Amino acid sequence: MISVEFLADWVRVFGSLVDAQHDRLNALDAAIGDADHGTNLTRGFTVVTAELTAPPEQPGELLTAVGQTVVSKVGGAAGPLFGSFFLCLGDAVGNDHDLDVRRFTLGLRAGLAGVVARGSAQAGDKTMYDAMAPGIDALDAAAAARHDLAGIFHAGAAGAQSGRDATVDLLARKGRASYLGERSVGHLDPGATSAALLFTALPIT
Ligand code: ADP
Ligand code: MG
Repeated sequence: MISVEFLADWVRVFGSLVDAQHDRLNALDAAIGDADHGTNLTRGFTVVTAELTAPPEQPGELLTAVGQTVVSKVGGAAGPLFGSFFLCLGDAVGNDHDLDVRRFTLGLRAGLAGVVARGSAQAGDKTMYDAMAPGIDALDAAAAARHDLAGIFHAGAAGAQSGRDATVDLLARKGRASYLGERSVGHLDPGATSAALLFTALPIT
């Protein structure tokens, strides 16, 4: 079962991974954007992590609170997008204390739908979508194959990381990087890189 403590730990681990990769995320954004992706996320998730010292007791409330802080503190394109992800995830899981991995994965898919509703990215546009969608697909496949929880989360992380790596060869069609046209090819997408960390954060908890 996925507990409220699990969700709080997941978000905390994501925050610490983002913090540790602050310079790298800025460097990736410097190549095809404006060099602030690490700064945007670190600023927001420092506040999120501080607020998690007294987390809400309901899973949906916790995730909704995270989403609200992300929307208001992260900034850039990534703030509203990651914010929508957590808000829609929170809506989907509601106050279900019997949250199993299948329902959690359905919630992640609702979160992804929130990202699409906000930014209308499609597969292959070289965005965070391209790490999130394969990460969720891999979680689904591993859950259907009845792997244990650690195996499911490792599969999700591997799926998201392959999706992230595949953004190198893509031409950006959304966000700042799209202004570069062909010159966006050959670079890892910063948002796909941070989105993959969401999945990497799962097996660690
Ligand atoms: P900004 O581009 O405003 O500086 P960030 O640097 O924080 O914002 O975030 C850039 C990342 O946001 C990109 O690498 C990309 O993954 C993601 N992104 C940009 N636009 C979209 C969109 N419409 N849909 C999904 N993701 C997007
Ligand atoms: Mg940027």
